[in-house]
Amino acid sequence: MDIKHATLHALSQELNSGAVSSLELCQEYLKNIDAKDGEIGAFLEIDREHMLQAAKDSDARRAAGKVLSAYDGIPVAVKDNICVKDERCSCASKLLAPVKSPYDATAICALKNQGMIPFGRLNMDEFAMGSSCENSAFQKTRNPLDTSRVPGGSSGGSAACVAADFAPVALGSDTGGSIRQPAAFCGVVGVKPTYGRVSRYGLVAFASSLDQIGPLCNDAEDAGIILDTISGFDPHDSTSLPNAAGGFADAARQGKASGSLAGLKFGLPKEYFTGGLDSAVAKVMDESIARIKALGGEVVDVSLPHTKYAVAVYYIIATAEASANLARFDGIRYGDRKKADGLVDTYYKSRGAGFGDEVKRRILLGTYVLSSGYYDAYYLRAQRVRTLIRRDFEEAFKQCDLLLTPVTAQPAFKFNEKSDPLQMYLSDIFTIALNLSGHCGISVPAGFDSATGMPVAAQIMAPALGEAAMLKAAAAFMK
Ligand code: GLN
Repeated sequence: MDIKHATLHALSQELNSGAVSSLELCQEYLKNIDAKDGEIGAFLEIDREHMLQAAKDSDARRAAGKVLSAYDGIPVAVKDNICVKDERCSCASKLLAPVKSPYDATAICALKNQGMIPFGRLNMDEFAMGSSCENSAFQKTRNPLDTSRVPGGSSGGSAACVAADFAPVALGSDTGGSIRQPAAFCGVVGVKPTYGRVSRYGLVAFASSLDQIGPLCNDAEDAGIILDTISGFDPHDSTSLPNAAGGFADAARQGKASGSLAGLKFGLPKEYFTGGLDSAVAKVMDESIARIKALGGEVVDVSLPHTKYAVAVYYIIATAEASANLARFDGIRYGDRKKADGLVDTYYKSRGAGFGDEVKRRILLGTYVLSSGYYDAYYLRAQRVRTLIRRDFEEAFKQCDLLLTPVTAQPAFKFNEKSDPLQMYLSDIFTIALNLSGHCGISVPAGFDSATGMPVAAQIMAPALGEAAMLKAAAAFMK
């Protein structure tokens, strides 16, 4: 049984033909994890007994002719900020280290309802704040393609997991690029759905107006299969969209079968193609544009003029929301409580010891921009500019069907290379505008840096609720 870059659709066939059982499949992945994760560090923890029991249950269903879906029995690994009942959910923070989830996130319920097996706790930047996994309170995750380099972040564990064949698919979350950027660094596919497409219920909130759960996987069809499963209205999330969801895997299959981009117009936002791009990224973007044309697509120049404010706006809005969301982690109701002298001292000591430096920096920034006297100057203004950024995208999508951009300005960097927080923040420059606008995007492997051999990705962005068209195009592009 070959699990190398195995897709959900291929594994489904093997399971359904009886070539392999779910138990054998899970054991095969665990064997690979045991062999390699000591070096990679993708997982914080795995409840093996629970996983293998779920596999046996799936095999029993299959033997009885009662599978829940074509994907019954396939393991899906989970980022440590998504709740799985009775498993730990630490967000890679010391503060939440002792916490176990009392319930399943809606996305996890959806996977379980299809018989899939959510397992493991994947490393991440603490509370999803970061771009390299270096902000995890517990461990480093190394890029499986070059262990001297970071896997990206904050869903670095998820990307490394798929790239190292520890699972065919992993769930991540994307607030400012945290699915797409690590997917790009590790050479896998990653999707940020339209805001509201996937329920955030059971995802520990970082910045609630930006967060989305999405898949990291080996191809566009698998991304579609997972999105078909986890998308849709959820009464537990007030920002969940009522729109019908589905048909995403079918769209990807069509794209792959046709291998054509005929009739599609790709916009190239000029602000994403000026200077600053590493030569390897620039070369892969040129090749991607040539590939689009060769497949029958058309490219047009467009402009997203407010892009230059995106990083600043993001780091005001995201930190403001984070400071409010993280206020609940006070060592009283949630998290590790430190011995202290009275209520306020409990807050100081528990939060002081529990949060890492980057999380503290964001809470301070966020509290500042929300404080009276500064609220209008920072937070309110940032919200207004956010509207302008969204309108830029809406204008651009009048002139084209999809946008093509880089995901990152450079391939995966080395550990400690970006020790200045501002340098790290700037590494999100091509991904965060899409979270501010709410539209959807996918990171697809598009080439390599010939000097280092590291993968380089292209980003395809689509209008709100445009996942089907986006996946269809991505599948054709990847073929
Ligand atoms: N790297 C960005 C940040 O540090 C985005 C993180 C994310 O998408 N969760 O905030």
